[in-house]
Amino acid sequence: MVEVFAVASGKGGTGKTTSTVALGMALADRYDVTVVDADTGMANLLFHAGLSEAETTLHDVLADDAAIDEATYERFGMTVVPCGTSLDGFRDADPARLREVVATLAADTDVILLDSPPALDSRTAVLPIVMADRIVVVLQPTIPAISDGLKVQEYATSYGTGVAGILFNKVREDERIDDVAEKTERYFDGPTLAAIPESERAREARRAGRPLLAHAADCDAAAAYRRAADALSVDS
Ligand code: ADP
Ligand code: MG
Repeated sequence: MVEVFAVASGKGGTGKTTSTVALGMALADRYDVTVVDADTGMANLLFHAGLSEAETTLHDVLADDAAIDEATYERFGMTVVPCGTSLDGFRDADPARLREVVATLAADTDVILLDSPPALDSRTAVLPIVMADRIVVVLQPTIPAISDGLKVQEYATSYGTGVAGILFNKVREDERIDDVAEKTERYFDGPTLAAIPESERAREARRAGRPLLAHAADCDAAAAYRRAADALSVDS
């Protein structure tokens, strides 16, 4: 059985795309993993996964101009479905087709990770959350981010989507993350999966167009992502 996760957060820039690719690589040791750039308006997973030259993308599939197998690429031990970056591609894409795409991918994989748009203010933004079995909430350990994350949880729950856990990201050394995590967990329906440190390696990896776990497999942030993958307890 496949399990579908939406990697979600209230705000942009929290690290959803970085985390989708990193969790995907960490889980790929144990499962057949497919990562999908479901942030079809501001897609940039391709820049994190060595696919900036991809000719056919999810936009083409959602526009009914290509079959899904034309937009899947084997990279870093995962199956990757990148999305295009053009405004025209976004305009022509029908977000409702994402369900069909995910159902097709589900036949051949154990885990699907949907890199999701931030916020809850459009159909495109909420569709991955509605479609997923569970969400992974990516948060910086601040009160506004936690408050936004709670809204995402409430929305997910209202559609019957569960909460796999919280991934704290860009955590600075001076932040008392254990205390923050303990307090935050009281309000969330899932555990803390890991706290990913603020990491120059993560920024470098993005600039290099490679996943963090390929660029700097031994760094602290990569190790934290592996712990998060261990904590995820995939139902597959
Ligand atoms: P989102 O998908 O939520 O908008 P991204 O994954 O694109 O966020 O990350 C936004 C920026 O933050 C990118 O430049 C990325 O390299 C950087 N980033 C992500 N995680 C970390 C981290 N742990 N430490 C430092 N920079 C990070
Ligand atoms: Mg993103």
